[in-house]
Amino acid sequence: MPYIQFLGAAGTVTGSKHLINTSGDALGKTGTQVLVDCGLFQGQKEWRERNWQDLPISAKDIECLILTHAHLDHCGWIPRLVKQGFRGPIYATPATVDLCSIILPDSGHLQEEDAEFHNRHKTSRHDPALPLYTLEESQACQQYFKPVGFGETKQISPELSFRLVHAAHILGSSMAEITLTTNGKTQRMLFTGDIGRVRDQNIAPGKVVYSGPQSGEDADVVVMESTYGNRRHPTDDPRAELAELIKKTVDRGGSVVVPAFAVERTQKFVFMVKELMESGQTPRVPVYCDSPMAIKAVEIFLKHAEDYSDATKQLIGRYGSPLKWRGFNFVQTAEESKKINDSQSPCIIISSSGMVTGGRIQHHLARRLPDPKNTVIFIGFQAPGTRGFTIKSGAPEVKILGQMVPIRAQVAAIEQFSDHADTPELLEWLHTFTRKPGVTYLVHGEPSASSQLRDAMTKELGWNVQVAQWMQKVEIS
Ligand SMILES: [Zn+2]
Repeated sequence: MPYIQFLGAAGTVTGSKHLINTSGDALGKTGTQVLVDCGLFQGQKEWRERNWQDLPISAKDIECLILTHAHLDHCGWIPRLVKQGFRGPIYATPATVDLCSIILPDSGHLQEEDAEFHNRHKTSRHDPALPLYTLEESQACQQYFKPVGFGETKQISPELSFRLVHAAHILGSSMAEITLTTNGKTQRMLFTGDIGRVRDQNIAPGKVVYSGPQSGEDADVVVMESTYGNRRHPTDDPRAELAELIKKTVDRGGSVVVPAFAVERTQKFVFMVKELMESGQTPRVPVYCDSPMAIKAVEIFLKHAEDYSDATKQLIGRYGSPLKWRGFNFVQTAEESKKINDSQSPCIIISSSGMVTGGRIQHHLARRLPDPKNTVIFIGFQAPGTRGFTIKSGAPEVKILGQMVPIRAQVAAIEQFSDHADTPELLEWLHTFTRKPGVTYLVHGEPSASSQLRDAMTKELGWNVQVAQWMQKVEIS
């Protein structure tokens, strides 16, 4: 009997990795093995250690990888998969392919930096500490990527084909509709990847992509994310709050530090700050986008205008490329990055990683957190176990780069920037399905979010919903 096995993002929001085995052969030697997403586990050590485990089948026997989008928790394990012998095609939308070409090397670079840091400071129980993969290994993966346009049907083997449809989560993001025919029976599976927000710009201000998630889906088996399965996003416009936070911080001589993922979230935030400065709602202070890949990310964004919302198109029409704006600095080298530390006058620093799990944001926070004049603004989800989660939850101190750093700066969070649908939005989307699926498995959520969404779906839609468990195999019957 064919089955799906949940190799990640079960009981947590990271490490998305789902294996489809069409023959039911646990060794994966017969039939077709397809992996949907290949993400990195992030956050607590217990999760991160899973990045070092081998797959239950040989990577060589996996026919192909279908990638829903370019976030690390969905694509960041690809170099490891290739390192283990995977040589098949990696199918993704053209924008996802382009974004992975900067995100994976950056991740390889960070893995190397982390290992180096642990070796220098003897802070790992492994001697020497090794990177999960290197910059070079992540660059070598690029040859396996094969772009597939939205709506195009791709036949993988006689029994299995797939099509990518809009997920409306980030640029290029998709859901995978997979059709499987075995023993004369055809079944449709839908892997949602991460589900974006509704079209309405007033509800989701700053939304970059034009669509909402594909409506009118029809599937026998749904594997669905549940990040915000127990949350409702605020529906008020965040711009006034953001303007106020920046203004007050600058008035008291402080700086604003924003941990943000370098792709999409940074661009979205930068455009919003530009608008606030142009309209006089915030003072014009220098803005530093300090991420080695922010420049390339801007270029990829400008190249893939086909996915944009009208609001994004208008913003780009009005202001052009952020790389050319006066007062906005895109920082390339580590030396330039460190120089920002010397700046005594107020500024805005946007740097990655978004959950403070690594990257240059660490030294900016180590420098700015102890001073109450400064403000840290979170504009993204902070997974438990990450430094971002610790800072956001009001802890008095946090360990950064091996040192305990006191948290005296103001800490704020603006939730409206989310690229994930909240519970009412998820239910609204599920209502558009043309029939009840036989079964829905919830993945990519903290246990309480997944179970609350399961209860809401059962009550409101009458669907058969189960919360997926890590390594669980479920038959597709
Ligand atoms: Zn995502």
